[in-house]
Amino acid sequence: MESMTAASRPLLDIPGTVAALRASFDAGTTLGIDGRLEALAALRRGIVAERSALERALAEDLGKSTQEATVTEIGVVLAEIDHMRRHLRSWLRPGRFGLGAVLAPGSGHVLREPLGTVLVIAPWNYPVNLALSPLVGAIAGGNTALLAPSELAPATSAALARLAARHLDPAWIRVVEGGVEEKTALLAERFDLIFYTGGGRVGRLVAHAAAEHLTPTVLELGGKSPVFVDEGVDLARAARRIVWGKFTNAGQTCTAPDHLMATPATLAALLPHLRAAIEEMYGPDPRTCEEYGRIVGEAQLDRLAGLLDGATAAIGGVDGIDRAARHIPPTVLVDVSFDDPVMDEEIFGPILPLLAVSGPLEAVDRIRAGAKPLTAYVFSDDPRTRRLFATRTSSGSLALGLTLAHVGAVSMPFGGVGESGHGAYHGRASLEAFTHAKPVVSKPLVPDTLRLVYPPVSALRRRL
Ligand code: NAD
Repeated sequence: MESMTAASRPLLDIPGTVAALRASFDAGTTLGIDGRLEALAALRRGIVAERSALERALAEDLGKSTQEATVTEIGVVLAEIDHMRRHLRSWLRPGRFGLGAVLAPGSGHVLREPLGTVLVIAPWNYPVNLALSPLVGAIAGGNTALLAPSELAPATSAALARLAARHLDPAWIRVVEGGVEEKTALLAERFDLIFYTGGGRVGRLVAHAAAEHLTPTVLELGGKSPVFVDEGVDLARAARRIVWGKFTNAGQTCTAPDHLMATPATLAALLPHLRAAIEEMYGPDPRTCEEYGRIVGEAQLDRLAGLLDGATAAIGGVDGIDRAARHIPPTVLVDVSFDDPVMDEEIFGPILPLLAVSGPLEAVDRIRAGAKPLTAYVFSDDPRTRRLFATRTSSGSLALGLTLAHVGAVSMPFGGVGESGHGAYHGRASLEAFTHAKPVVSKPLVPDTLRLVYPPVSALRRRL
């Protein structure tokens, strides 16, 4: 049978789908904690049952190896589910709060109430992780959720839709596949939260659409995440961490090191270590390496190839591109200036420009002069330099001595700031993102101490 193209696929009844999710939320389907724990367990069982299908889809869409699929996609989601299931009850326990004299005797606690029906829009680059991890928060928070995967990872989108149809309760979760047309129709609906991961251009469209209904948003966007390598660090080890973070998923990672700054002497000393680390991980010919990913599509390949025009590649470069295989080799650019096209926008591919700075102070100035990045990476043995970056630069997160792996820390919040987004998730932060912290205050009618604040106020004035 001929596969359905986006043009031939009938548009789903999107208003009806949203209405069905809202009706089941209103019926209280997702309210109980036992039910939420069971829904999370069902999601876990579904992922395990469909694991091979998800791995195949990731290989088809992005050339992801099973190692990468485990480390950066499926394993992360399973860890997120397990962490949430372990802690959900205690995180939902209403804390007690002291109230002032006027409210005594009385009591106050905070109820984390579900928001309602939420929309999760996912990107193509980690199409399993970035679809299902937010869903963990949505379920844990007691919401019904509509998941909209990216059309640019079509095999994974279809695999997620199958997973949902086979293993998840449609009263809780529905998947709507499709591209701009479907997303636009979805954004016309009213949701109680929109959780969007992707680029800033569409992020702005999402924010506009959300404003129509005063819907809150979590925007997980991107940016140019810088790396600074200080003098004196162990360059062989630093190079391995930078290479892994940069070239995982062929650089198509929101938190990938975008560009690297160091003094000219450190750059010169680092380059052979970068070369060695690339060869160690991806072999002498990365094109034939199963561990090395592919570029998602033609348009992205053209954009990245354009960035190599006129640039000087010390490693990789334009000659290594294999269009048919959607392959761009791990590439390191030298003699780059801050005005070059490669510094205009997030690279989002396997190209690492090296830029000379006079030292940490200039690197900090350069970061401050640009949009706030999703992550800043610093390799330095000097505590003053680490503190300098911590206090004088702003970024979604700061990683000292590592790249990328911090995103997998399910116990820590993850999110952007400024142009790299707003709101955070993972672990407890996910529960917070997908619930409203409702203060509940109660006070007996007797004794009527509130009389203190009723007019006339002379009694209170005498007390203050
Ligand atoms: P993408 O093209 O897959 O778009 C993301 C989502 O937006 C998709 O579901 C897509 O269908 C939808 N979309 C596209 N056009 C739309 C429109 N006109 N109206 C409504 N929806 C629309 O992904 P992308 O934007 O190319 O993703 C790459 C960007 O995402 C990079 O900037 C990257 O840094 C960022 N990113 C951020 C994170 C994070 O966690 N902060 C994670 C991954 C990617």
